[in-house]
Amino acid sequence: MAPVRVRFCPSPTGNPHVGMVRTALFNWAYARHTGGTFVFRIEDTDTSRDSEQSYQDLLDSLKWLGLDWDEGPVVGGPHGPYRQSQRMDIYAEVAAKLLASGHAYYCYCSQEELEERREAARASNTTPGYDGKCRDLSDEERAVFVAQERKPVTRIRMPDTDWTWHDLVRGEVTFASEHVPDYVIVRGSGEPLYTLTNPVDDVLMEITHVLRGEDLLSSTPRQLALYDALKDIGVAQGERPQYGHLPYVMGEGNKKLSKRDPESALLMYREEGYLPEGLINYLSLLGWSFGDDIEFFSKDQMAKVFDISRVNANPARFDLKKCTAINGEWMRFIEQDDLANRLIPYLKQEGVLTQDPTATQLATLHAAVPHVQERMETLRQGVGMVAFLFYGDEGSPRFTVDPEEASKVLTDDARPVIAAALQALSAVTDWNTQAIEHALRVSLIDGLELKPKLAFGPVRVAITGRRVSPPLFESLEILGRERSLARLAAVLD
Ligand code: GLU
Ligand code: ZN
Repeated sequence: MAPVRVRFCPSPTGNPHVGMVRTALFNWAYARHTGGTFVFRIEDTDTSRDSEQSYQDLLDSLKWLGLDWDEGPVVGGPHGPYRQSQRMDIYAEVAAKLLASGHAYYCYCSQEELEERREAARASNTTPGYDGKCRDLSDEERAVFVAQERKPVTRIRMPDTDWTWHDLVRGEVTFASEHVPDYVIVRGSGEPLYTLTNPVDDVLMEITHVLRGEDLLSSTPRQLALYDALKDIGVAQGERPQYGHLPYVMGEGNKKLSKRDPESALLMYREEGYLPEGLINYLSLLGWSFGDDIEFFSKDQMAKVFDISRVNANPARFDLKKCTAINGEWMRFIEQDDLANRLIPYLKQEGVLTQDPTATQLATLHAAVPHVQERMETLRQGVGMVAFLFYGDEGSPRFTVDPEEASKVLTDDARPVIAAALQALSAVTDWNTQAIEHALRVSLIDGLELKPKLAFGPVRVAITGRRVSPPLFESLEILGRERSLARLAAVLD
């Protein structure tokens, strides 16, 4: 068997979305599993919809997720260029050969004429589709259209046969001949369409397995036919590629997850501080399973066992809660120093740290991570938990208590609590968690006879600015004596 060659070939329109990345991931995993080649191709033939921004976002997304490609933009390869916008002469040449060999023909019908005839077909209950009017025009008929300066589209002459293939995910799939009419591969303007460029490149790039979303199922019979035509004219050599159609991803209310759903925007996950490991782990579960009820694994572990035969044909449900929970597991799994380093860009972005954090700030961050690691599901949440440690540093915002928290917790009743805490902590000379805890317990619990919540709640808000924070005594230790006392004193003012 030929070595596996798979491809991921998005069109650079709009924002990368999770469905797309699931496709990339499954192709990547199959290539890695089989020791094959993962080709990344950009299908940018629609100048009215493609954008450079979207192209960059695609590259960025794959890099962020660690889905490395063996051939494609940036890395190149023997079948380049890998942007279809740079391959236009190839498509023109193939289209010309298809015309010359009779596998394709010029169709001069106008949109209105086509629509009219489709209507009539519907009315007489025949399957509407191109009726083959221009299949065999005589020279005279053609001459009339040319004289009218009609710009012909190029259509594939579909053989009169049903189309069956063994889908790697769905098993045997058949399309009846009448549902696959002659279709357009080149516009009147000369612009080649997806129907031509995609299968031609699959052939030229020697793709062996086409794994893509179920929405493309109906393109497959056309592509099989085109493959056969390409073989006939000597453009294709080996076997037809095998096809596997990955299940739909459903969102809220059991509707297909749409590009417009906010949870489908891939870069949102990076912004919110999901880990690439967590997101990949979750996306891999959309239509595939590791087996043995295992749901926590890395992409390399996935690649080791990934086989298309375990891709499920039933629609997969996208569940943001579960995605976030898996991400939380990854937060707890990765090394603490690694986690600290991953928090830094988010802390900078929020303005909590400057571009050049000091050694003290880095030490503070590393000291804090063990106390927040268990509590955060995203890096962005982590930022909120540790930010209080840096407020007041040079270049960072001033420390303030959230006014809503203050109004709830720092009431008049809290005044004696804060005053006692300040007094007790002022007397602590050896500033460490145990000593801090001891001083506060003696003063607030034993001395003022308060329940822990009423004793430590106000101190927590005064010190961290929030009611939910890393553990209090550790927070005080990491924040340092001077700052801790100053924040308590500030609240009393
Ligand atoms: N450019 C096509 C798309 O993004 C590729 C479809 C395919 O994988 O064949 O929908
Ligand atoms: Zn026609």
